[in-house]
Amino acid sequence: MSPLACRRVLLKLSGEALMGDEDYGIDPKMIGRLAQEVIEAQQAGAEIALVIGGGNIFRGAGLAAAGMDRVTGDQMGMLATVINALAMQDALEKRGCKARVMSALKINDVCEDYIRRRAIRHLEKGRLVIFAAGTGNPFFTTDSGAALRAIEIGADLLLKATKVDGVYDRDPKKYPDATRFEALTYDEVITRDLQVMDTAAFALCRDSGLPLRIFDMGQPGVLLRILKGENIGTLVSGRG
Ligand code: UDP
Repeated sequence: MSPLACRRVLLKLSGEALMGDEDYGIDPKMIGRLAQEVIEAQQAGAEIALVIGGGNIFRGAGLAAAGMDRVTGDQMGMLATVINALAMQDALEKRGCKARVMSALKINDVCEDYIRRRAIRHLEKGRLVIFAAGTGNPFFTTDSGAALRAIEIGADLLLKATKVDGVYDRDPKKYPDATRFEALTYDEVITRDLQVMDTAAFALCRDSGLPLRIFDMGQPGVLLRILKGENIGTLVSGRG
């Protein structure tokens, strides 16, 4: 029996989390540190799936604002998430962890196609799975991809790593007296109009009763502490 509070989790990292101190792309030191954190959590007994965004390379909305066709921009964004996933797979495997990238877009010369049953099998066999290319559809984000895959694989918890250490009643960068919530219900998030993730992703979590924890991945060891049951960041669930 695992001593952890969660057996199977999906961790969503933004593409920007991979940039470290750079302005663009991937900082090898940063991705190495994140990979190490994930491996420690996995070695403690958790089954871990990852979704990594693409915002450190391309976002479709930004490309469309600059004049590009939106669907093409979103396809570039999805491919950016594949690049990040391959980089993470490499960082994990360099550290002795078995990992598989599974893409929602068919590019099976570079990674596996996403097949739900195969993804679950990888997890059961102790492999870390990285879901790439979001939902495979334009006009979505990787938050939606993360919520969707978390539900499909039967994750106990969706972890969303951000630069802020939880959900606040007001923007903590603008208001120093802003208060962080330890726990919220889905309904409270909606009635208070709090921004925890995009609307489509949030609706998926709420409709499936998937608990969601928003936290800051900046502190070393935080992932493992959460999996051991520490109340870090903000938990959003159906329970008040
Ligand atoms: N994207 C998409 N469909 C998806 C997921 C992602 O079209 O299901 C595109 C979209 O253009 C998005 C980009 O990929 O902006 C990168 O993902 P996201 O913005 O979620 O990355 P993050 O902000 O987490 O780094």
